[in-house]
Parts: sequence; structure tokens; C-alpha cells
Amino acid sequence: MKEQEVLLEVKKLSIAFRQKKQRVPIVHHISFSIQKGETLGIVGESGCGKSITSMSLMGLNHQTETTGDIQFEGQNLLTLSEKQWRKVRGNDISMIFQEPMTSLNPLMTIGKQMTEALFTHQTISPKEAKTNAIHLLQTVGLKQAESLLKKYPHELSGGMRQRVMIAMAMLCHPKLMIADEPTTALDVTIQAQILRLLKKLNEEMNTAILFITHDLGVVRQICQRVMIMYAGRIVEEGTVDRIFQKPQHPYTKGLFASVPSFKEKKEKLVSISGHVPKPGTIQACCQFAPRCPYQMPQCLEKEPPLQSIEPEHRVACFLMKGGENTDSPTTTSESTDKAL
Ligand code: SF4
Repeated sequence: MKEQEVLLEVKKLSIAFRQKKQRVPIVHHISFSIQKGETLGIVGESGCGKSITSMSLMGLNHQTETTGDIQFEGQNLLTLSEKQWRKVRGNDISMIFQEPMTSLNPLMTIGKQMTEALFTHQTISPKEAKTNAIHLLQTVGLKQAESLLKKYPHELSGGMRQRVMIAMAMLCHPKLMIADEPTTALDVTIQAQILRLLKKLNEEMNTAILFITHDLGVVRQICQRVMIMYAGRIVEEGTVDRIFQKPQHPYTKGLFASVPSFKEKKEKLVSISGHVPKPGTIQACCQFAPRCPYQMPQCLEKEPPLQSIEPEHRVACFLMKGGENTDSPTTTSESTDKAL
């Protein structure tokens, strides 16, 4: 059993863009935490605010208005200067992206990039830096690590580049790694290898992982807890076991119903009708109401609060009146679990 100690606590985080003097809210008052060594998944359709939330944890939302509180080991990250951020990034919190070529420098060898990252954060000799880089490349399953140091990113396959990215993200043994759709661009076999690798790093180094994805199957494989986001809000959150067995929010149920299954023949895959509302068009009501098969008059009058229905299960829906939403026009809890 891993140590249960809060590593990161996000309170009432709101993010908005300024567009032609107009304020366009993207993320609205979300609160969540990550324990040391935990893997938390954030799931949602494109435009739900999951990536921009993760960018704010790295201090990379330069063009936005960000308010709230992001406590990381006792300091509010939102108050850091750029100089202070440079110490946190890579050292305490690191990030891996979907496409490594966007973050690896194409003009520098892998060895140069890795050792420079080490020199930025540690007082270390060139020989030690090289030894550490080789060790990490081996840890992420790259053979002939020494000769790899002399190669440029374009000389590697997509899977190798992603492993290099992970090795670079692990260079300073960060306490939190943010993985933003890191396997989406990879084929299924390489995807499985990368997920196994992340799980191994999480278990062996106790690195907490915030895993951003739209793929519930990936969440099932790697995460302990999951948070479902819709239109910049958290609509459901809980342990993976609980959410996969008893999803409650109509949006979560819709996501599960739209997942194809090899184990169980579904008559047809159910898609969620409609679209995520565009930023700036958000109304003071349940944001999912236009797409929700359970819509009630009160859903159009105000937003449902995110509330606990079990110790480790929170849901934002007016159907939750101290109990579970057992009605389900789209899927059953049993089929949800079997589907993945
Ligand atoms: Fe549907 Fe109403 Fe629940 Fe929103 S609050 S998800 S509209 S039932």
C-alpha cells in the first residue's frame, strides 16, 4: 500500500482566454488532488479543458487568466516567478506530450539534450551526466543506449522517441509526471509497451502520474483514480474500480456506451448526440443538459454541484439525491466493466 500523502492540491482553478477584449472561460472552479505516487486519469472529449488544466500545473498557460490555488508541497505554484518555475519544471514536475518531436530539439543529439537538462537542475560532472543518461535510457528499455546518445531525434522510430521523452522526463526523478495523451500517436503494440513502462516507473520510483487521455481502456490499465471532465468542469471523480463498476453521471455512462468491446458483442455502439459547448457559449445551467437523456427543468436553471455520493466518489448531477443513479438508457454498469 502506497503512502497516502497529498502531493498536489488544486483548489477552485479557473482558466480563461482574452479574445478581442472578451473573457472566454475554459476551466471553471475545479478542485482536485493527487497523492504521492498515485496515478490519476483525466478523461474527456476534445475541448473539455483537460490539457489546459495540465498546462497550468507546469506554468505554461502564458496567454490565459488563471485564478485559484495550486498547492505543490506547500507552495502555491500560481504565485511563482518564471525563474522559480524553471526550478520546478523538469525537477519536481515534468511532462510528456503526444508527439515527442514537438518537445525534442531536432538539431541536438539525444545525448546533448539529456545532459543539458541535467546541467540545468543539478551540479554534476559531464561524465556523471552521461552515465545517468545511459542508465535512464536503459531503464526505459532502450538498448545500445551509449550509441543512442549520438543520434538525432529524426533517426529514431516513434516508439523510441517516446521512450527518450519519458527518460528525459524522469532525469531529475520528478515527484509528478504529467502525461498528455502520450500513446495516442503510437500503434497498439508500442502503446502497450509505453503504458507498461509508465506503470513500472510509477511503481518503482513512486512518481505520481497525471494521465490525460480520451481512452477509457488506457485509464483502466494504468490509473488508480479517474476524473471525468466536461465543458471545463469535473462531472464525476472516483476510484477506477468504482467508476468502471458504477458510473453515475449521464456523460460518463455515455462515454462507456460508446467504447467498442472485444469481450462482449454490443448490438450497436451508442454515440453521445450533440457536441461539447464552445468556450464562451457556456450557460448558467448543467452544461451537459442539451445532450442529456435525463434532462429535468432544474437542470436548465442552475449548475449541479459536485458532491460526494460515496467516500471516494463525487458526481455533479441533479439525479444524485443521496443515492445512485441506477436508471440507464445507454448502458449497464456490468457491461461498462466488461467493455474494457
Ligand atoms: Fe442530465 Fe440534469 Fe444530470 Fe445535467 S444535471 S447530467 S442535465 S440529469
